[in-house]
Amino acid sequence: MRSAQPARPAEHADTVVVGSGFGGSVAAHRLAAAGREVVVLERGRAYPPGTFPRTPREVSRAFWDPSEGLHGMFDVWTFRGFDSLVSSGLGGGSLIYANVLLRKDERWFVHEDPLPRGGYEDWPVTRAELDPHYDAVERMLGATPYPVAHPAFAGTPKTEAMRRAAADLGLDWQLPPLAVTFAPRPGAEPGLGLPIAEPAFGNIHGLPRRTCRLCGECDIGCNDGAKNSLDHTYLSAAQADGADIRTRCEVRTIRRRDGGGYEVGYVVHDPAIEGRRTATRELPEHTITCDRLVLAAGTYGTTYLLLRNRETLPGLNLRALGTRFCGNGDLLTFLLPPDDDRTGTVFDASRGPVITSAIRVGDARDGGDATGRGGYIEDGGYPGFAAWLVDSTDMTGRLFRTGEFLARWLLGWLLGWADTSLSREVARLIGNGTLAAGALPLLGMGRDVPDGVMGLRGNRLDVNWTTATSAEYFARTREVMHGIAETLGSRYVDNPMWFFRRVVTVHPLGGAPMSHRSGDGVCDGYGRVWNLPGLSIADGAVLPGPVGANPSLTIAALADRMCTRMLEDRDGAGEPG
Ligand SMILES: Cc1cc2nc3c(=O)[nH]c(=O)nc-3n(C[C@H](O)[C@H](O)[C@H](O)COP(=O)(O)OP(=O)(O)OC[C@H]3O[C@@H](n4cnc5c(N)ncnc54)[C@H](O)[C@@H]3O)c2cc1C
Ligand code: SF4
Repeated sequence: MRSAQPARPAEHADTVVVGSGFGGSVAAHRLAAAGREVVVLERGRAYPPGTFPRTPREVSRAFWDPSEGLHGMFDVWTFRGFDSLVSSGLGGGSLIYANVLLRKDERWFVHEDPLPRGGYEDWPVTRAELDPHYDAVERMLGATPYPVAHPAFAGTPKTEAMRRAAADLGLDWQLPPLAVTFAPRPGAEPGLGLPIAEPAFGNIHGLPRRTCRLCGECDIGCNDGAKNSLDHTYLSAAQADGADIRTRCEVRTIRRRDGGGYEVGYVVHDPAIEGRRTATRELPEHTITCDRLVLAAGTYGTTYLLLRNRETLPGLNLRALGTRFCGNGDLLTFLLPPDDDRTGTVFDASRGPVITSAIRVGDARDGGDATGRGGYIEDGGYPGFAAWLVDSTDMTGRLFRTGEFLARWLLGWLLGWADTSLSREVARLIGNGTLAAGALPLLGMGRDVPDGVMGLRGNRLDVNWTTATSAEYFARTREVMHGIAETLGSRYVDNPMWFFRRVVTVHPLGGAPMSHRSGDGVCDGYGRVWNLPGLSIADGAVLPGPVGANPSLTIAALADRMCTRMLEDRDGAGEPG
C-alpha cells in the first residue's frame, strides 16, 4: 500500500478496481488470488488501528472535501428529500459501519414487482444463487453472533431489552452475524481486549489487533482493530496475493479504448496538501489503462463516474443510468426514559458493539399473515463519551446538583465541618446517569420503494428521492418502534428531521441497476455493463431495489459471484452483448 506520487508515466494493468469498499475489496482479493494483475485506486487514506479521529480537533477534520483540504473518512451528502453518510478510506464503508452481516430474505428477491409510480423492481439473481457467495464472504469476514451468553460480553442490557420487546410484540428476534472478533483465535474462549492471532495472509497495516472491548465506537472507526473491516481481511489478503493497492487516488475519468479495454484518469490527494484549500480541478491527472475495469466506488461514486463519463462510454444504457435509487428504508429514531418519575428500561447503549440484535418485521411477500413491506429494527449504540453528552442535556438536574454541591462545600469550609470527605457529594454532582442509561437509538431499515433518480445538476451529483411513495412502509416501521417503546416503558422520539419527512440514509443503493434484459438496466446479474465488454460494477449501485436488511453482505456476495463468473470466462466470450 502506498500513496501514489505525481507525474507517473502512463501504465497498464490487467484489471483496475476503483474503490476499496465491499465490492472493490472482494474483487481485488478474488482476482489477485487467481493471478490477475490488479491495481486498486482508492480516493481515501488508510486507517491503521489507533489512528481513527477522537479529539474534537481531529473529528473536525475527519470529513471528505479535498477542495477544502479535508481528506477524512466521513462523506456527508444532502439532497432534496434526504441526507446521507458514506465513507472514504481504505476499506470504504466497513471503516464506520456497524458490522451487521445479514442475508437478504429469500422472498424479497422480487421479480417484476410494480412500483407505485410506474416501472418495477426486478432482481436478476436469486437467494439460492447467492447463498454460496454469502457463505464465502461470511467466512472471510469472520461473521459471528454477539456472544451475549458469555460472562465477558453479558453486560449489554440493550440486547436483552430488544429480545423482550420482540417477544411481547410477537416478532422474530435474532443475534445477527457481526464482523467483529470476540475471541483471540477461532474456537477459543471469547474475552475483552485480547491479542488477536494474525491470519496467514498477514495484515496490511502490519499492526497488532485486539478483541472487542465493548466501547461502542464502531461507527467512528475501531482503534483496537477488533472490527474485521475490509482492510484487515479482504484487502490484506489481496495485497498478500500481489494486488497493488493505492490510497489517495481519486478516479475522475474513464474512457473506452478503441480496440478494447479502458483508460482511467485519476488525481492524487497528497498528504502534503491536506488541511489546505486546493483547486482540485487543477491537480495533474495520471493515466492507467486496463483490459478490465471494475467500478466499486459505491452508489454515489460509481453512478457519478458513469454520469460524468457517459460520452466516452458508448453503448451505456442512459435510460436506466441513475434509476432505482433508494435508501434501504433507513429510519433513525430514539427511545428515552419516560417523562414522569417511572424508571424506564436501562439500555446502557454506549456499552457493546453499536448493533447487537435485530427484530424482523414481516412482509406481505413472506407468505404469512404480514402485510406491507417488511424490514428490520436494530438496537443502536454510541461511544462512551457521547453518553456524557447525552446526560449533560439534563440541564435542570445538573444545575440543581451543582448548587447543592457548592453549598455543601462552602458550608463545610466556612464552618470547619469534621467530615472532610467529599466523595459522596462528587458522586451526586455527576448524577445517576438516568438519561444516558435509558436512551437507545433504534435503527430501522427495510423494503422502501426504489423509485429515486440520480443525475447531474451542473457538475454535481443530484438525487431525486423522497419518502412520499414509501409512506406506508415508514408509518409501519414507526408503529412497531412505538410498540417497542411502550412495551419497554420508554418514551418514543422521532428523529427531528422526520418533522419534514426527511431521513438520513447510511445505505444508499441503486443508480446502475442490474437487470435481466439489456434495455431495463445498466448491467446484468453479474455486474457486467451491457454493451461495454470488460466493464463491470461491483458495489451498491447495481442493486435494483432495497436489500431490506443491512446491505453490505449482499453487495459483497454479488461481487464474489461476479468474480467467479469473470474468472470462468477469461477470454470474455460470455460478455453480455
Ligand atoms: C454509520 C454506518 C453504519 C453502517 N452499518 C452497516 C451495517 O452494520 N451493516 C451493513 O451491511 N451496512 C452498514 N452500513 C452500510 C455500508 O457501509 C455500505 O452499504 C457499504 O459500505 C457499501 O459498499 P460499497 O462497496 O457499495 O461502497 P463503499 O463501501 O462505500 O466503498 C466505496 C469506496 O470507493 C471509494 N471511492 C468513491 N469514489 C471514488 C473515486 N472516484 N475514486 C476512487 N475511489 C473512490 C470510497 O472512498 C470508498 O472507499 C453502514 C454505513 C454507515 C455509514
Ligand atoms: S465496540 Fe469498540 S472494540 Fe468492539 S468492535 Fe466496536 S469499536 Fe471495536
